[in-house]
Amino acid sequence: MRALSVVADTVADMARIAVIGAGAGAMAAAARLAVAGHRVVVREREATYGGALGRFEREGFGFDTGPALLHLPAVYRDLFLKTGREPLESALTLTQVDPASRHVFPDGAAVSLPNASRGGVLAALDGALGAGAGERWSDVLGRARDAWDATRRPLLEEPLWADWQVLGRDPYPAVRRRGLFGRGRGPTTATLAEVARRELADPRLIALLESHATAYGFDPRAVPASAAVLPYMEQTFGTWYPAGGMRALADAVYARCVERGVEFRFGAPVERIVVADGRAAGVVTADGEVTEAEHVVAGVTPQALAGLVPGGAPWEASDAPAGPPPGPVPARMTVALALRGARPDGTAHRTVVHTDDRAAELAAVFGGGAPAAPTVTVLRPDDPATRPDDAHEAVTLTATVAAPGPGGLAADAVEALAERMTERAGAAVPELRERLLWREALPPSGEALLPGPALAGGGGRFLRPANRTRIPGLYAVGGWSHPGGGPAHAGMSGAIVAGLIVNGDDWHGST
Ligand SMILES: Cc1cc2nc3c(=O)[nH]c(=O)nc-3n(C[C@H](O)[C@H](O)[C@H](O)COP(=O)(O)OP(=O)(O)OC[C@H]3O[C@@H](n4cnc5c(N)ncnc54)[C@H](O)[C@@H]3O)c2cc1C
Repeated sequence: MRALSVVADTVADMARIAVIGAGAGAMAAAARLAVAGHRVVVREREATYGGALGRFEREGFGFDTGPALLHLPAVYRDLFLKTGREPLESALTLTQVDPASRHVFPDGAAVSLPNASRGGVLAALDGALGAGAGERWSDVLGRARDAWDATRRPLLEEPLWADWQVLGRDPYPAVRRRGLFGRGRGPTTATLAEVARRELADPRLIALLESHATAYGFDPRAVPASAAVLPYMEQTFGTWYPAGGMRALADAVYARCVERGVEFRFGAPVERIVVADGRAAGVVTADGEVTEAEHVVAGVTPQALAGLVPGGAPWEASDAPAGPPPGPVPARMTVALALRGARPDGTAHRTVVHTDDRAAELAAVFGGGAPAAPTVTVLRPDDPATRPDDAHEAVTLTATVAAPGPGGLAADAVEALAERMTERAGAAVPELRERLLWREALPPSGEALLPGPALAGGGGRFLRPANRTRIPGLYAVGGWSHPGGGPAHAGMSGAIVAGLIVNGDDWHGST
């Protein structure tokens, strides 16, 4: 009843809403706002929607170029529920990936972790890494659950608190053993790397935990222990694959937007946000077209947004975490492999081939160099949409690498990295070289950085700027604003922005 009355009130009060960018977060906001009765026009500088949810296609093969798996599908189920009658599953075939991941370690040990099964993961780790390994992992994830329970609402479902500083305390419970984190009962200030070393001990378990952080672009040596929520999230809510790849999620959200009357203008970069009488009043595109609007929703980075408004970054101290930025944000290198021969039955969808020199890898990724032996994620979906026929297989390799400068990586550096990644992927794909038809390196651009989800702890440095800004009528959405990056978190930012516009800036989140 409450939702219906909100819609009825706002239909009578239709506003024009200008959305900048057609990334996942912006489209999630657009669909919700259109259903609330507003006239929504999205301006996207590229020729298509989806932003990071891209796809590379060649000769009948298809590869995701952004995130390849979905965690927390509930975010998009909710979007579809709130914006129409047909559920997400009517637009998208989602399957659970089982095993969720296979891990290959430098000592030759390998383990397949079942999807969304804490007991199954415990048994698998015990079996592969020795008795007790599963319990140590499970204990860490149990503490991660406490951190998740303590911060799920403010970090996922509610606008950023004005007193966001309280989220700067790490919710990961201290291990109450003398000499470990001292005798205090307060929250730990340990980094994820310290917790991994002290609580997991086994280098393979350490690699397993830390690889979840690096996959999201976080330096485990700098990120607070609360980053343990990342594997907790995966292990608890599962790992899902949309048929057709993650691009199919962007297709579904775009189609939902269009059904609900959202208008899209492609090839329309916004150059300026009009601010009149202290309020956001519209946008100006590169061709000089001025469009008036009562609200502007910007799905771009804070740096880009600062360049679109007078006076720079549009946040008050209470809107945005202060303090030094949490170190360099890395990027993602993708390599597309077209293979002859069928994908063998029983192949893991995702295999992580861990580096044999973690210290060197972290130093390179977060210090600006190229890792000599990168941790490589090998993606082998069992999806006919990724290959010309069943006598071929599409394999995607990804590695987290240092962000290139504005000019991108030199061609020979790209090829050398692609070669090293292919070499390492051989540990997951037998006869890879013999089967290789062609390889295409898709290097990171200076803009394709990895925005991780917002995390509590670290003095608030891992939070993102609020969705509400100091300019009334201007909102930030998507992975670079609260509650951070990844398709699910960006989808939540869309829900929060729509909630603020529909209910007013004092709205504290749905009850
Ligand atoms: C290579 C890569 C790999 C990733 N891998 C993962 C992963 O494995 N796991 C994970 O959780 N997350 C991953 N992410 C992050 C995740 O994809 C995003 O956080 C998520 O898709 C949400 O994106 P967004 O809403 O912030 O919009 P974005 O995808 O950032 O899109 C922003 C859009 O705005 C447009 N735009 C920018 N400026 C303007 C302007 N002035 N005018 C008009 N349009 C403009 C851009 O062209 C773009 O289409 C990855 C991101 C990248 C780039």
